[in-house]
Amino acid sequence: MNALILKPGKEHALLHRHPWVFANAISRIEGPCAPGATIQILSYNRRFLARAAFSPTSQIRARVWSFDETEPIDHALFKRRIARAIAHRRQWIKQTDASRLIFGEADGLPGLVVDQYAQQLVCQFTAVGVEHWKEAIVAALQKETGCTDIYERSDAAIRTREGLPLRTGVLSGAEPNAPIAILENGVRYHVDIQSGHKTGFYLDQRDNRLLVQQLAHQREVLNCFCYTGGFSLAALKGGATHVLSVDSSAQALSMAQQHVTLNGFEPTRAEWRDADAFKTLRDLQSEGRQFDLIVLDPPKFAPSTQHLASAARAYKEINRVGLQLLRPNGLLFSYSCSGAVSAACFQDIVSDAALDANADIRILKRLSAGADHPQLARFPEGEYLKGLLVEKI
Ligand code: SAH
Repeated sequence: MNALILKPGKEHALLHRHPWVFANAISRIEGPCAPGATIQILSYNRRFLARAAFSPTSQIRARVWSFDETEPIDHALFKRRIARAIAHRRQWIKQTDASRLIFGEADGLPGLVVDQYAQQLVCQFTAVGVEHWKEAIVAALQKETGCTDIYERSDAAIRTREGLPLRTGVLSGAEPNAPIAILENGVRYHVDIQSGHKTGFYLDQRDNRLLVQQLAHQREVLNCFCYTGGFSLAALKGGATHVLSVDSSAQALSMAQQHVTLNGFEPTRAEWRDADAFKTLRDLQSEGRQFDLIVLDPPKFAPSTQHLASAARAYKEINRVGLQLLRPNGLLFSYSCSGAVSAACFQDIVSDAALDANADIRILKRLSAGADHPQLARFPEGEYLKGLLVEKI
């Protein structure tokens, strides 16, 4: 069999179950190896470490399928992994018909994301290994979920690093002719799987939306970077007196507004601003506005570690103004979805923002994605969403 031989001493990460082999760890490759083909990973002294998918163009040159020498990489493996991932969601994810069924490395399927919205599945293939096994994966998904409508949203730019073209479209069943209706913790949302962000909805914030729902009663709420109003609708459901939401996408806001009527809420309780959130935060300060609960869930400010300094400034700025806009005893839900910003670093940024805002704060809770986004213990790259629930004293 073909084999990828590591440089001396480079076996450490794999021995600790980290599922990636970087190009700079490789000594040589033996035998022919096509993109996506299965390759054995051996240490310099030829000890078996793993079987992996070979990716000749990416800096992540191989992604591990299995650390077990006796486990073949075949159709049955994909069926098993998919069945196990779905069983996990059935056990852990309640009160919703929308969840992430497959979360890449944490489900033993590096490069694959599958989200379920009611009876619709949406897949994202971002590595050449899962692309190679696409047919087997789609067949297993159909069988394990009973869903026939499967749509592909492989339009993430990281595909180009794998030498793959961007692709969206039907993988099986019918093309949806309307947004998909879902019901999450008693709130109805419509999900545009064809042109919405990611696969259409931010499933990773489900537990955090529920927390907002539970804490919003009788509070005046500000939701910055609201997208289609996930947190805004949760706050309305929880009894917020008024919710002001800000986003720079008119398309997302239009959907958010439809969600208000879809849920039967009084439209005057919700105010929407199509604007830059940085500017709006400053404007609200000049207008003398104050809030009891603020959500800051911006896009990824640090796409990589090179952007850390500018990202830190941006996070600090919105958190500083956010804290100034909070009334005493007010609550701030603040997030970073930048993988490059660690939880400790994010806490430092929010603490510095509080100092600059001259606000005393207490951390009430550390926040993350839900149980349908599990984390491998030795794979920090999988842990991108960090949040803090902070109280202004
Ligand atoms: N909280 C949302 C997801 C937010 S995603 C949810 O739970 O569904 C980030 C959002 O920030 C996107 O909708 C994007 O349109 C918006 N955005 C990006 N830059 C912005 C800016 N400068 N001002 C306002 N909105 C911005």
